[in-house]
Amino acid sequence: MPKLFIPGPIDVSKETYAAMSQPMIGHRGGEFEALYASVQPGLQQLSGTTRPFFLSTSSAWGVMEAALRNLCAKKVLTLCCGAFSDKWYDVAQRNGLQADKIQVEWGDAISPAAVRAKLEEGGFDLVTLIHNETSTGVMNDLAGIAKVVKSFPGVLLVVDTVSSFSAVPLAMDELGIDVLLAGVQKALALPPGLAVFACSEAAMERAKSLPNRGYYFDFIEFAKNAAKNNTPSTPAISLIFGLQHILAVIAAEGVQKRFARHASNNALIHAWGARHGFKNFAPAGNQSLTLTCFHTPAGFDQAAFIKTLKSKHGFIINGGYGKIKGLTFRISNMGNETTTTMNELIAAMDDVLG
Ligand SMILES: *Cc1c(COP(=O)(O)O)cnc(C)c1O
Repeated sequence: MPKLFIPGPIDVSKETYAAMSQPMIGHRGGEFEALYASVQPGLQQLSGTTRPFFLSTSSAWGVMEAALRNLCAKKVLTLCCGAFSDKWYDVAQRNGLQADKIQVEWGDAISPAAVRAKLEEGGFDLVTLIHNETSTGVMNDLAGIAKVVKSFPGVLLVVDTVSSFSAVPLAMDELGIDVLLAGVQKALALPPGLAVFACSEAAMERAKSLPNRGYYFDFIEFAKNAAKNNTPSTPAISLIFGLQHILAVIAAEGVQKRFARHASNNALIHAWGARHGFKNFAPAGNQSLTLTCFHTPAGFDQAAFIKTLKSKHGFIINGGYGKIKGLTFRISNMGNETTTTMNELIAAMDDVLG
């Protein structure tokens, strides 16, 4: 089977699959409650919070949509800089919410000053931010934007860390983030199907005051069940076994080492790109540490490059997402990759380039 170096889903280790194939357990009982409790410290450490983590059997979008439905009473400001963040505005509208946006060119980052200027217009009670915009390889200034949002009382901040969670330090409580969410098929290197999220006390207060939260994604239901180390409905138990395993792997490596490994693996790809004259799509200072998005140079047969890399070497990279498909290509360094495995990919890409 070819190995994935696309920015999600990513390569899953044999040990993770083994952990996931443990015999099934019932979810209303002590064994599941122990499993649920066991993943809390690791998730909390990675996100810098003391708040309980909720486990949603859905992809990340389930929680991204839920955050809108649970938290927006007046008007949401969506910060749009790529495929995923732009979509959040669309999803707000599909839910019939009052929504406004800051839209920057794909490849640019969101400026905290622009967020301040927009919030000063008034009327907002929620902001959505994608920390690491996976479609463009842009990592936004989370601390700078959070500081601005926190200076507006009554405005809550939802942060998608889908492709940065566990790869870079996060400080939910310190930054005053109200919802921090991630899907597990990106930097956590699990198969898709589970999302994890934590909510501030202010977020829970807001949710309580809102009607029409539905059931499956009701934050209050999640909190009620989390108090008993459980989930509202039957969860993806196998994925939670996998999560328990990967959190143990992360603890054994040490989070600081894990962050440093992601940074150095990412730098290897940047250096490879520079050697071949590939230009980074994201601006210096806002480049993701978990994937790299390159411009496709004029005259470069990107499709043939990707195809041969797969057929000859068994490695899959991505040929661009959304409206920059073909114009860009992306290489992930998330998850369990090491200097050795990144160098194997680099040697293979060099071979294909000739
Ligand atoms: C992949 C991704 C999503 C969407 O995740 P799903 O699991 O497909 O719902 C959202 N945000 C970011 C930043 C992503 O990379």
